[in-house]
Amino acid sequence: MGRSVVVTGGARGIGRCIAEHFHKDGCHVVIIDISREAGESLCHAFEGMEFFHGDIADKVNIDSFLETIERPVDILINNACVGRKGLLSGCSWDDFEYVQRVGVIAPYYITHSLYSSGLLAQGASIVNIASTRGFQSQSDTESYSAAKGGILALTHAMSVSLAGRARVNAISPGWIDTTSTQQSVEDENQHPASRIGRPEDIAQMVMFLCDNSRAGFITGENIIIDGGMNKLMIYHKDRGWQYRHENN
Ligand code: NAD
Repeated sequence: MGRSVVVTGGARGIGRCIAEHFHKDGCHVVIIDISREAGESLCHAFEGMEFFHGDIADKVNIDSFLETIERPVDILINNACVGRKGLLSGCSWDDFEYVQRVGVIAPYYITHSLYSSGLLAQGASIVNIASTRGFQSQSDTESYSAAKGGILALTHAMSVSLAGRARVNAISPGWIDTTSTQQSVEDENQHPASRIGRPEDIAQMVMFLCDNSRAGFITGENIIIDGGMNKLMIYHKDRGWQYRHENN
């Protein structure tokens, strides 16, 4: 029987691409997602894939989901996240807290529950999907940036706590187009890699990190996949960049 894989937010976008990659690799894939329609359509398309409908912001949903897990989990992909803006939009206590519940508390709680119930397999691999926004920002993005900073720190903390049981790594994507939309030349070429990212760029790194024979010496790491954007130094009039003053 193939490896047992759990993907949060696996019904669409990057999570769906990751779920498909593991399914093609012969794994038994279970996803939890807030979108019933997308989850059911995915499982319809991929025989054997299982879908649980629920919002991971709520502990009760995670508990119900984990009750359905029957065999030790070899691979956990903490992928689901949302953003609810920040300071300039007046992101409320509840909105800020909701984002942290989805983006940080749920990844911790799922890992904790699997570990404490004996359902985290020996030699397991956990990959947390973070973001370059964990260490660089646009304005008015505090709720999301805080969640991404949190999951980056959670990654190295859990990698040490779970030493000998599981490897824990993060991937920080930059701009990944999950809609196959035609983007402008400017948007593509501003990246040193001369294009916007695709879900496959992330899924392929996930597959590598979860392969103990190839990535067995990698844990606690954060792999940035952003076409080089975080390495780009920006100065007015350099490489076509123009500074224009705005009030915020
Ligand atoms: P997406 O919105 O296309 O897909 C997210 C999936 O998670 C959806 O299926 C959604 O229904 C599900 N989801 C959202 N909230 C949920 C909840 N509370 N409970 C259960 N399921 C929930 O997003 P994406 O672009 O594929 O992003 C996936 C991950 O990659 C996220 O962690 C995101 O922060 C990160 N990321 C994305 C990009 C990008 O440019 N797309 C860049 C950096 C990081």
